[in-house]
Amino acid sequence: MSFIPYGRQVIGDEDIAAVSEVLRSDWLTQGPAVERFEQAVAQYCGAAHAVAVNSATSALHLACLALGVGPGDLGWTTPNTFVASANCLLYCGASVDFVDIDPVTRNMDVAALESKLIRARDAGRLPKVVIPVHFAGHPCDMAGIRRLADAYGFKVVEDASHAVGACYRGRPVGSCEHADLAVFSFHPVKIMTTGEGGMLLGNDAALMRRVALLRSHGITRDPAEMEGESEGGWYYQQIGLGYNYRMTDIQAALGASQLARVGAFVARRRELAARYGEMLADLPLRLPAQDRDSAWHLYVVGLAERSLRRRVYDAMRAAGIGVNVHYIPAHLQPWYRRLGFQPGDFPVAEAHYAGALTLPLYPGLSELDQERVVRVLRQALT
Ligand SMILES: *Cc1c(COP(=O)(O)O)cnc(C)c1O
Repeated sequence: MSFIPYGRQVIGDEDIAAVSEVLRSDWLTQGPAVERFEQAVAQYCGAAHAVAVNSATSALHLACLALGVGPGDLGWTTPNTFVASANCLLYCGASVDFVDIDPVTRNMDVAALESKLIRARDAGRLPKVVIPVHFAGHPCDMAGIRRLADAYGFKVVEDASHAVGACYRGRPVGSCEHADLAVFSFHPVKIMTTGEGGMLLGNDAALMRRVALLRSHGITRDPAEMEGESEGGWYYQQIGLGYNYRMTDIQAALGASQLARVGAFVARRRELAARYGEMLADLPLRLPAQDRDSAWHLYVVGLAERSLRRRVYDAMRAAGIGVNVHYIPAHLQPWYRRLGFQPGDFPVAEAHYAGALTLPLYPGLSELDQERVVRVLRQALT
């Protein structure tokens, strides 16, 4: 029996043709495909600006830098995420703290955010930026987070790595209606792929220009941005300390080709998620809420307790089902424990982790394979 992974890209002939076209062209990087892809993603999301980079991790780093996060600052995110959502703050020399999650949505709990903000204001230690994560593709309560951002004066960066193609109150995630910036990941297990890659979206032209400068060494060729006069057509100036976080044209061509099918990818994920919901209804599992707005990056069920999760995980892996676990709470990683975090700090995220099991979900998962997943899970539970 073949192995069923938990996530897998969909690559079609049109993707291969788009990449081949770039390979035969004059520009493998810093050519026209990147800008075309940026414009397509901005238009898809209804955001004014998009800047493509080489990963979501780079995008999160640049988001924090462009918002002026630095030493002495504080940023908050959710513990139920991949470590990159927190690491970006450490890259900038800022401190990290976490806000516990809602047990049903498994996203940042806005009531917990509000009470933590009240305590932080009293202690004179408010965050400069808050980074909510749309866990599994399910949009966070962005209106609630926006209301608190206006009241307490912090910036909002949506880590939308799971949520390309998701909707929030009738608008695509990435529109930045409620956030300063949004970040997508195009890693192959995500909704659509460029191999490695990421994107920043935003509506503030000056902020997005800072992001674009930081992506490429802090170098400008625009005389209007230079100190003093340009010395000629060859002349450039480094006006900030940036990086090489550029996406290649090869990746961007793949991305633009994938983006044309993202609606179909997400529609298929939603169908498969609804099917899981029906097939698993009689099992002793906590199922994710049916959500037509989610991009359904992950289908995460909850088992009653830690030892059962381990047993079921091992049994399913042994049967060739690539189940996974999302997420080991970020604050329990040794790196974060060294910063002072401990078990018990974020009990809802820790309880979620104790029982969490991610079942295979991707557009190319056949219904027969999905039935095999359910059969093996049913056996493992009995
Ligand atoms: C995948 C992921 C990232 C990192 O994405 P890369 O493109 O691999 O750098 C960041 N945050 C979350 C929530 C993710 O799932």
